[in-house]
Formats: sequence, structure tokens, C-alpha cells
Amino acid sequence: MRGEFVRLGPAWLSLREHADYPPAVRTLLGEAVVASVLLASTLKFEGELTLQLQGNGAVRLLVAQCTHDFKVRAVARFDAARVSMDETTMPFAALAGEGTIAVTVEADKRAARYQGVVPIDGVSLAASLEHYFANSEQLPTRLALAADAAGAAGVLVQRMPQAGGAQSGGASADAAAAESARETLAWDTYAAAGAALDSLAADELLARPSEELMRRTFTGLDLRLFAAQAVEFRCRCDRDRVSAVLRSLGAAEVDSIIREQGAVTVTCEFCHKPWRFDAVDTAELFGEAASHVPASSALN
Ligand SMILES: [Zn+2]
Repeated sequence: MRGEFVRLGPAWLSLREHADYPPAVRTLLGEAVVASVLLASTLKFEGELTLQLQGNGAVRLLVAQCTHDFKVRAVARFDAARVSMDETTMPFAALAGEGTIAVTVEADKRAARYQGVVPIDGVSLAASLEHYFANSEQLPTRLALAADAAGAAGVLVQRMPQAGGAQSGGASADAAAAESARETLAWDTYAAAGAALDSLAADELLARPSEELMRRTFTGLDLRLFAAQAVEFRCRCDRDRVSAVLRSLGAAEVDSIIREQGAVTVTCEFCHKPWRFDAVDTAELFGEAASHVPASSALN
């Protein structure tokens, strides 16, 4: 079996520094960010993993992204009328509703893109993602996720594909029996690890010192712990990407905004950075001659 443990503190705080989420939405967002890190830990190339939840619940859209080197960003769009700022918890089914969860993996340097989509499972985000692993990756996987205002944490346990399969050669009844016993033991161990995750309380997951948490949770297992890697918040927005968005709107649409407001400002949904394009910028964008730029320079 392989496992991953993620706990975010400062990265989780800076990720939502400019956003004011109701506590229930914040919890789901934190769980999704942790899940994106757990999933990205399996990336075998430079790129980015995107977890996207889209449903008809109070949260209409949630996007959490993590790169191969663990830079995270995330955003949630929610219906303010359906989720109160005072409610600390809300059933997952009411938050997410019915819809889909898509996991997309994109490589930086080559045109490799993979997407797996599963229906939202009304029980929890963790349960939905367990279906994703079962369907898309065909790897039995268990997850535990938790988040609060100060932190977000999660554990993933995965049954590895069998190494090598049965020893050939002898093909004796003894070898087959030994192999079958080994399989049974592996499944029992996996089930025990899953049960341990089920009994793991959110506050423990969020606060107990990591090594102690792992040893207490998976007590009785031969546990090997590896060095930790840092996860940080970093947005990947840049002027080129915003330019592409404006180009896709078309010159007419952008020009009309410029005429009304003097400039087009596109605010990044992830980090809330405002990208401002004035008449000169947009003229450049659409490759227009400078003479087409309105003569007035009093545009602000
Ligand atoms: Zn940004």
C-alpha cells in the first residue's frame, strides 16, 4: 500500500486571503484543495491537476488546482441565498447537490491531457473521489479529508497494483496457495487501514503531530515515513492568459466596455489580482492601427 498525508496551514490561509467564504463552503473548499494535493502527488510529469466540482447545490462550481511541485490555488462560486454565514456545517449533499466531479491532468510541455469524470456521491467529497479512483484509475483508494478556518488536512491510502503477479516456473499448488494467502493478507491490511481512516476524527487529522497521527492511526502496520514536501499558494494567472480571454470576447465587446468605462479590468478569480487593459492595450491586443484608438486620453 502507499499513502499520502497532507496538512496545510499558511498555504490554506493565503489561498483564501481575499475571499470571504461561509464556513460550510470554506470547509468543502479546504477538503478539495487537500484532495488536489493528494491526487497531484501521483503526477509523473511536470504539469497541473485540476479538481472541478459542478453541481446544483449551494456551491455551483468549485475548482482546486495543484501543480507537480505543489503550488495550489482554488476558488468556489456559491449561491449566497442558500448558505448562511453563521452555519458552520452543512450536509455535503446540500452543498454539492447533484452533478459531477472532474479530475483533469495536464502536462506543461507536451499535449498530454487526461480527464476522468464521476458523479457527485451525496455522502462526502472523499466518497466521491473514492469512486473516481475505482472507476478511472482502477486503484482501490480510501480518503479522509478535513478543513477548518486555520487548516486543511487529508490522508490517502491506496492498494498498489500487484507487483509482478504470481511467480511462474514452479506453478505448483504450494506457490498458488502462498500467492492467494498473500493477496488475502494484503486486502485485510487495506481494509484495516480504511477502517482506521473511518474512525479518524477531523480535529485529530487537523491538529495531532503528523508522525504521531500516522503511527496511532495505522497502529500495527509496518509503516515507513518519507520526508515531507512544502505546499504553497501560488496563482498562475498572467497578462497573456487574460489577453487570451479578452481576445475570445472579441473586439466589438471589448471596445464597447472601453467606451463605457474607459478600461477593461479583469479580476483573477483565484487571487483577486486586477488586470487592467486600457484603449491602447486593447488596440494592441486586437492588432488594430493606433489611429483607431479613441483620441481622448482622459480614460481611467
Ligand atoms: Zn490569479
